[in-house]
Amino acid sequence: MYYYKVCLPLGIDKDFSYSSSQRIVYGARVLVPLRAKLMLGICMEEMPQQNYRYKSVVEVLDEAEVLPSELLEMAKWIAWYYHCSVGKALFAMLPSRLQCDVDAVASWIGSDKDIPQDYLPLYAALQTQDKLKLSELKKNRPDYPVYRMAEAAQDAGFISLAHKVKHLDKPKKKNFIEVAGLEFDENELPLRQREAWELIKEQAESPFLMADISSLITYSALKALVKKGIIRIFPKEVQDSGFFREKGSGAKTITLTAEQKQAIREILEDYGKFQVHLLYGITGSGKTEVYIEIIRKYLQAGQSVIFLIPEIALTPQMLDRFDSHFGSNLAVMHSQLTQAQRFAEWQKMKSGECRLVIGARSAVFAPVQNLGLIIVDEEHESSYKQDNVPRYNGRDLAIVRAQKSGAQIILGSATPSLESWQNTQTGRFRLHRLKNRPLHYSLPTVRLIDLRDSQNPELITDELAIAITERLNRKEQVILFQNRRGYSSFLQCLKCGKLITCENCEISMYYHRDREEMQCHYCGHFYPIPRRCPSCNGFSFSYGSAGTQKVEQTLKMLFPSARILRMDSDSSSNTLKSMYQRMKRQEIDILLGTQMITKGLDFPSVTLVGIINADISLNIPDFRASERSFQLITQVAGRSGRAEKTGEVIIQTYNPEHYSIQCASRQDFESFAVQEMNYRSRLSYPPAFRLARLLYQGIDLGELTNEMDRLKRTFLPPQSEELIILGPSPAPFAKINQLFRYHVIIKAANPSQIRTAVEYIEGGFQPQKGISKQLDIDPMMLM
Ligand code: ADP
Ligand code: ZN
Repeated sequence: MYYYKVCLPLGIDKDFSYSSSQRIVYGARVLVPLRAKLMLGICMEEMPQQNYRYKSVVEVLDEAEVLPSELLEMAKWIAWYYHCSVGKALFAMLPSRLQCDVDAVASWIGSDKDIPQDYLPLYAALQTQDKLKLSELKKNRPDYPVYRMAEAAQDAGFISLAHKVKHLDKPKKKNFIEVAGLEFDENELPLRQREAWELIKEQAESPFLMADISSLITYSALKALVKKGIIRIFPKEVQDSGFFREKGSGAKTITLTAEQKQAIREILEDYGKFQVHLLYGITGSGKTEVYIEIIRKYLQAGQSVIFLIPEIALTPQMLDRFDSHFGSNLAVMHSQLTQAQRFAEWQKMKSGECRLVIGARSAVFAPVQNLGLIIVDEEHESSYKQDNVPRYNGRDLAIVRAQKSGAQIILGSATPSLESWQNTQTGRFRLHRLKNRPLHYSLPTVRLIDLRDSQNPELITDELAIAITERLNRKEQVILFQNRRGYSSFLQCLKCGKLITCENCEISMYYHRDREEMQCHYCGHFYPIPRRCPSCNGFSFSYGSAGTQKVEQTLKMLFPSARILRMDSDSSSNTLKSMYQRMKRQEIDILLGTQMITKGLDFPSVTLVGIINADISLNIPDFRASERSFQLITQVAGRSGRAEKTGEVIIQTYNPEHYSIQCASRQDFESFAVQEMNYRSRLSYPPAFRLARLLYQGIDLGELTNEMDRLKRTFLPPQSEELIILGPSPAPFAKINQLFRYHVIIKAANPSQIRTAVEYIEGGFQPQKGISKQLDIDPMMLM
């Protein structure tokens, strides 16, 4: 007999051990019993036999490992650092194709007499049906310990249990029609059936999608044809066409600049060993070309490379560039892939068929062999942070993984995070700079426009309107940026001043003009715009600051003949796809959007970028607000003048002297970093200190505040110069989705003090039922 530790995707970190008569490789999937349930788990390691009644592994699903030992080790690190279970970490790495839920189905086999009280609910439920899914009983009777009792009832011989495997990923199936090839006389078909048959005959391919003709014919006619044996209808798995990889236009031949060559030379000094490099290059300085050269070196040496990029920067343009260089060696992980496509890409990495992986955050778990290099592009992006358990940061995990595999790692950005910048100052990371754009393409000139002097604040000032007109006349393109979707941010009663807020979240709702609706951007709740103020019955409203829809409407009035496209998260992914093509073909004059359009876009004819209101991100109550504004403005401004034509950037703001806006307008990261670092040190924020946040949420405010008082009185660790505890206090978003929110913020001089403080609180304080807790280590946001 063998004994194994098996990790299950449960919140609790408890070791589960099982026996098995066969050997199981580490990292293979197994089905094991847990109470009356079967669960999918990952075999971690062999354990010495203990004095313990083992249950045995029900089934071994894999002969070879699905997760290599390197990833098993990483899961342990994640569990330790982010305080979650190893199982949760492992399942975050496993493609959903390989995951399943197992449901237990009970049947009554015992006698109808002398049934112990405890089993009566099972017995009652099985009176009306032969087979009972335990999960269904659990739904109806949440307070009854269904699985524990079912297990006992099974042992006592009252019920039998069978298990049903449900795959989490349901392949998309659609109906197809196939011609059966039967000999028959068409003229004998009734009219409707004959019409249907005519259409079917015309289809060039067989089988074909039923949906292609279903709007033209009746289903009963089709059914009749099936009955006569003329055609067959059958379901078949289909692939989403949501994702596309355009054939590259062929790699441009370019001559690297002296700066680029120097960066490559310096980085390759550490070839083949673990070392973190920060490539700090202004927007458009050619960082990607540097990556490509270094990737080539590693691929030629037979090693694998992981290239991480934020989801929104994973544009067709970016993929084109890599496709034309590395084509068949390239695997792509992308949220728009179907699960089948994702799994196919995953297998190509695992088998070694593809040794270069490009993907968002989770690609840090790519199962590649012989890892030599990891690149994290736009390393400052908050989208590297996962917002459910395990709450990891993909950039930080990339460093951990590189260290564990002795790989080299490059972080790149035009606006590095202060955390990474600090590491270059202390010598932990090596710094390389690209200060210029190649081919002497110059940085755009920047104009700041003070909205305080303006006639029509927050919309299009005269200066901006004149600049747009010039571009339209010269047949050049314009990008306008407004980091707020919808029509305007809020609706406020002019009589009593009441703001229309979301009843679930107590946050002002957004006005969407095209749908004539108010919508909460946190919980999604919406309703038609009120005709009258709910508190004073007044009927005139102020519409607050403008969203993209309102800007669009103003643009249409000012420039009636311009071709305008609005892009925000209200637009579909199809629009994104065609936007890229239409911008390239110059079928759009003005592209207007939210931060969706800040990244990766590279259009040579864009010569003007306008930022409608630079203050929106500055006013967010979060300690990273200045940093985010700096990044946003710098990145947006970087979209301009990426070719021979010089670009111009116009920034409209109420805070023209704010250091974020001043530094961003000069693309001067280093001065910004000095000032921002000052502020972070003064207030003990990262990177000067480390952070953790405990968030407690509950539906009953009274209960929640009572619990928070209890926490505050007894369970907070003593503070010191190196450990600061804030709260518990209401979070800036004090209520979301009907849940009230309180948080405790822990600031400590180093990670081990964070760990000690978290363990101190969690060891003592268990919130009562109805109050949930979330722990976030190194949070990106404290909202
Ligand atoms: P970054 O990633 O730093 O924003 P990119 O690598 O996207 O910059 O480069 C910006 C543009 O400059 C791209 O169109 C790229 O093809 C071009 N480019 C980069 N390096 C060179 C070079 N050495 N010579 C000519 N063009 C270059
Ligand atoms: Zn809401």
